[in-house]
Amino acid sequence: MSKPILFNEPYLTGKEKDYMARVVDNGMFIGNGEYTKKVQSYMEETMGANRVLLTHSCTAALEMLPLIYDLGPGDEVIIPSYTFVSTASAFVRNGCKVVFCEVDISNLNMSIDDAMQRLTPNTRAIVPVHYGGISVDIDDMRARLDAAGREDVLILEDAAQGVYAYNQGRNLGTMGNMGTWSFHETKNLHCGLGGALIVNDEAYFDKAEDIWERGTNRGKMLRGLVDKYSWVELGSSFYPTEMQAAFLLAQLESHEANLSERKKIYLRYREHFGSNPLTADFVPRVPDVASLNYHSYFLIFDSPETSDLVRVGLKKQDIHAYIGYVPLHSSPYGQKMGYSAADLPLTEEYSLRVLRFPFHNNMTLNDVDRVCELTLKLLAER
Ligand SMILES: *Cc1c(COP(=O)(O)O)cnc(C)c1O
Repeated sequence: MSKPILFNEPYLTGKEKDYMARVVDNGMFIGNGEYTKKVQSYMEETMGANRVLLTHSCTAALEMLPLIYDLGPGDEVIIPSYTFVSTASAFVRNGCKVVFCEVDISNLNMSIDDAMQRLTPNTRAIVPVHYGGISVDIDDMRARLDAAGREDVLILEDAAQGVYAYNQGRNLGTMGNMGTWSFHETKNLHCGLGGALIVNDEAYFDKAEDIWERGTNRGKMLRGLVDKYSWVELGSSFYPTEMQAAFLLAQLESHEANLSERKKIYLRYREHFGSNPLTADFVPRVPDVASLNYHSYFLIFDSPETSDLVRVGLKKQDIHAYIGYVPLHSSPYGQKMGYSAADLPLTEEYSLRVLRFPFHNNMTLNDVDRVCELTLKLLAER
């Protein structure tokens, strides 16, 4: 049998060890040091972000959001059910009421139509998730909120998968009031675990920085603005060590090479599946305003059974494809919140139709051919 094709293999540039050794030589290990600042500036410059605060995960960056905006009991936050658990738990843990909304069946992003119907006078924020690095139309969302007289509703982007993916030249995560990125090892660029808060709303930078520094104004002390630091906000320990920052800097500096390799893999998938009558109808829609970072390749099949059939058939040849997220509203915790599966029928159905194919920088184009040829064979024989 040929070698296994794994779903993901963490990316490596070869420079990581050297950069981490420099931290050891420097002798300064705590975060918010030289490498953290280098990473933040690099992201601000190359990703067009206003201000960036590096965090130890995207989960951590999401958890900062309700602290920054004082969101808690009595406040409603609209979140897609089809997302990773952290998008919702970050708000639930601060006492917010999470209101789940349906998927857009054309690409599994949140349905803006459905989100608008769930607005109430208590809605404080909407959290769009750019699934697979495909941009949600944030301009359309803002325009519709404005038209409904709801300029007050915050747009907080979960752009965990959207690093170096764009909407009309703007990096995902830089369009809403705030945004978050992930540098988890399954993402395009990583440092094991890592993330960032993108502070688009400059007025909140000082508060965000204090929350990030365990609720103290230590950052202001480091910049000479105060001579000793004290407890000023309810915060936590949100940043990573310098070791992770150095590792991440090595990765970020290779973002162009990373992306051009991924683009080749993506285009090869598209060559096989994009116009083949067996699969063309299953290709997700990428809006005209979106340009991709080639984070993933997935199909949305005509039924859960088709998705299963392909997944199991590939697995027999040691090719590892995965279904998408298990919907949050019908999860055990979602049920504890009072939801049942029938509340969001499209999310239930479409989450089982998705199949995400192997995608990582160690894949060869031959690997992609093997995955696609077998998939097409399985579909032709069904
Ligand atoms: C990966 C991911 C997260 C979590 O990121 P961590 O860095 O692992 O905390 C959150 N939301 C989405 C949409 C993700 O894909």
